[in-house]
Amino acid sequence: MTTDLTTNRRHLMQASAAALITGALPTVASAQEATDAGPTTYPQPSVDARFAAEVAPGIFVIPDQRIPLVPNVGIIVGTERVLVVDCGLGVDSAEAVMETARRLASGREIVLTLTHAHPEHGFGAQVFAPDAQIFYNRAQADHLARAGQGLLDGFRAGVLPAEHQFLLDGIEVTMPDETYDGAETRLDLGGREVVLRSVGLAHSPGDQIIEVPDAGVLFAGDLIEERIYPIVPYFPPLIGAEDIDLLAWRMALSGIEELAPALIVPGHGSLGGVEIAQDVAGYLDALDEIVANGADMEMMIAEVQRRYPTWEQANYIPPALEYLRR
Ligand SMILES: [Zn+2]
Repeated sequence: MTTDLTTNRRHLMQASAAALITGALPTVASAQEATDAGPTTYPQPSVDARFAAEVAPGIFVIPDQRIPLVPNVGIIVGTERVLVVDCGLGVDSAEAVMETARRLASGREIVLTLTHAHPEHGFGAQVFAPDAQIFYNRAQADHLARAGQGLLDGFRAGVLPAEHQFLLDGIEVTMPDETYDGAETRLDLGGREVVLRSVGLAHSPGDQIIEVPDAGVLFAGDLIEERIYPIVPYFPPLIGAEDIDLLAWRMALSGIEELAPALIVPGHGSLGGVEIAQDVAGYLDALDEIVANGADMEMMIAEVQRRYPTWEQANYIPPALEYLRR
C-alpha cells in the first residue's frame, strides 16, 4: 500500500472491544427445508492448513475442501512482505493460517486482509493482531464497528450448530491497524504489487477483491462461489436487505470478467477461470427471471435446482429468493 502500515496503531487499541465478523450462513433448519433431506450433519468448519497449494509462483491457496463455512485462504509472498487473504473462523483456524504464513514468509512482515467482513472469513483475525498488520478497506471497518458484535453473537447462536459454537469462544471483533479509502489501493510486497479493489456494498458491505497482476490471479471472496449456490446472505435480523446489493454484485462480476484474470480463487469452491464469474452472474440473472414468474417458494426452489442440479448447499437458495421477493 502507499501508506505506512505501521501507523494508526490507535485503531488496534480501539479494537480490543471489537471482533471480526463475516457474513451469515443459512441455518441448519433452513437447509433442511430447502432440501427436505432430513437431518444435516456439517463437518466442523475449520481450515485444514496442511495442504497449501502453490497455484502460481509465490501464491498459495489453502483450499476450503468444499466444507461449508470454510473459506479459501490465500497467501501471497513478496520479497519484503506476505499478504494473507482471509483467516477462517475461530482461533484454531486462524492460528493454522498464521503458522503457514510464517513458514512461507520466513521472517518477512505479514499483512492480513479480508475479502469481506463476514464471520467465516475473518472471525479469527485477533490471532494476527500481535505480530501482523491488519489492513481492511474503510467499508469493512465501518461494517465491523457497526455490526460486528451482532454478527458474532448472531452467528454463534443462529448459524453454527450447537456442537460447533465453541469455535467462537474467545473471539472478539478485531479492527484493522489501518484502512484505505477509495476504490483501490496498491500494496508493494517487494518484487510484486498487489491491487486491493473495494467493490462496496454487494455480497456484503465492503466487499474487496485482491488482484495479483504479475500472476493473473484474483481472489474474489464471496462474490464468487464455484458450483455452490451463491450466498445471498439475507438472514434477518442478523443480516438485512440493506447489507446486500445484487445489482452491484452483478456489476462487480462484470468488472472481474473485464480484468480477465487467468485464475480466480472464489470465496468457496474450486478455483477456475472467468467462467466461474460468469456462472454466478448467470445464476443471479436466473433468480431474477424465476422470481419474476411469481411461483410459490417451493416451486421456485425446485426450478433453481432443476437449472443447477449439480450445485451444492441448497440451503442458500431460499434466502436469495426471499431477498428478491421482498
Ligand atoms: Zn460472506
